[in-house]
Amino acid sequence: MIPVSAVTLGPEVEASVLETIRSGMIAQGPRVAELEARFAELSGARHVVAVNNGTTSLIAAMAVLDLQPGDEVVTSPFTFVATLNAILAAGATARFADISLDDFNLDPAAVEASVGERTKVLMPVHLYGQCADMGALAALADRHGLAIVEDAAQAHGATVDGRGAGTWGIGSFSLYATKNLTSGEGGLITTASDEVADRLRLLRNQGMRARYEYEIVGNNYRMTDLQAAVCLPQLAAYEANVARRRANAEALSAGLADVPGLVLPTTLPGRTHVWHQYTVLVTDDAPLTRDDLAAALAERGVGSGIYYPKVVHDYDCYREDPRVVADPAPNADRAARQCLSLPVHPALSPADLDTVVAAVRSSMGAS
Ligand SMILES: *Cc1c(COP(=O)(O)O)cnc(C)c1O
Repeated sequence: MIPVSAVTLGPEVEASVLETIRSGMIAQGPRVAELEARFAELSGARHVVAVNNGTTSLIAAMAVLDLQPGDEVVTSPFTFVATLNAILAAGATARFADISLDDFNLDPAAVEASVGERTKVLMPVHLYGQCADMGALAALADRHGLAIVEDAAQAHGATVDGRGAGTWGIGSFSLYATKNLTSGEGGLITTASDEVADRLRLLRNQGMRARYEYEIVGNNYRMTDLQAAVCLPQLAAYEANVARRRANAEALSAGLADVPGLVLPTTLPGRTHVWHQYTVLVTDDAPLTRDDLAAALAERGVGSGIYYPKVVHDYDCYREDPRVVADPAPNADRAARQCLSLPVHPALSPADLDTVVAAVRSSMGAS
C-alpha cells in the first residue's frame, strides 16, 4: 500500500536523539533554543516560541490576545478541529466565513461579510501547504482593527509575495508526526512583537520570569529537547524535501490533467505551495463518488485521505454551543463532500507516482 503520508526519519535524526539522551538534558534546553533560532530563519519570523504541540501553540497564541466573552474570531469552516477548539478555549465566539475553492482557504469577500462589531481576530488557516490570500486578508484586518492569528500548522515555509506564513500576525505551526516538519508532537509560535514573544515564553513556563517569581497565570506548554532533537536535522533537508513534494505534485497534475470529474489543486500567483497535501475535488458528475474513488484506490494499493469529511462545526458537541455561529458556507460544504488527498510526500518513488496516477485514471474510467 502506498500511504498518503509517511514518517521517514533518517540516521541524522537517530544520531541527534541519541546525542540528546546521552547529554542528560532531555527537557527544554539548548536544542529547543536552537530549533527556535533555525525556524526563525526558515519562516522569516522575528521570534519563535516552541511548545509541546500545535494545538497548544494555537491556544497560547489566542491567550495572549486577552479576548473577552462575546469577542468574535472569524475563521475557516474547512479546517482541523484544533482551530475551533483554540477559539473556544480562549472563551471567544467562532464565526465561519466561506472558503474559495481555488486554494481551500478563507475567501476575503466572505470574511468581509462576516466581520461585525464584536469581531476581534481574523484566523486564516493555510490549508494543505498554501497560504490564504494574505495580502487581501491583512488589509481587511488592518481596516477593521483585527488581530491576525494564522493557523499555519500545514504550511511551514510557504510564502505570499516572498513573505513567510506566520509573519502577518501570530503564527502557529504544528510539528505533529505527519506534518511537513515533525518532532512527533510539537508546536512553534511566531511573532514580530517582542512583547507577545515575552508573554508566550512566560505562559509556556508557569508564568515564571525568575525562579519561583510568577508574573502571570501560566501553564506548562514546554517542548522537550528530545522533541527538538527529532526536528532539528529535518530543517537542513527541508528545502530539498519541499522540492520533492513540489515535483511529485507536478507529476500528479501532469498525469491527471485530462481526467473528467477531477478538479486538480493549483498554486495561485505570488504564492509558494509546500504541498503538505495534494487534494483533488471529485465533482458531483464524476463517474464515481469521492468515497467510491477512495475505495477503488485502496483496492489498487493506493492510500488517500479525506481532510476533512465535514465542516468543522458540524458535530453534536458544537451544535448547541452559542459560541459557535454556523453561517452558510457552500464552498466549504462542497470541499468536504468532494475532497480527496493523494500521496505527495517526499518518500514516493517515480514508480509510486506512476502507480498513483494509473490507479486514479483506471478508477475514474479514463484510459
Ligand atoms: C495539525 C493541525 C493542528 C494541530 O496541531 P497538533 O500538533 O496536532 O496539535 C491545527 N490546525 C491544523 C489545520 C492542523 O492541520
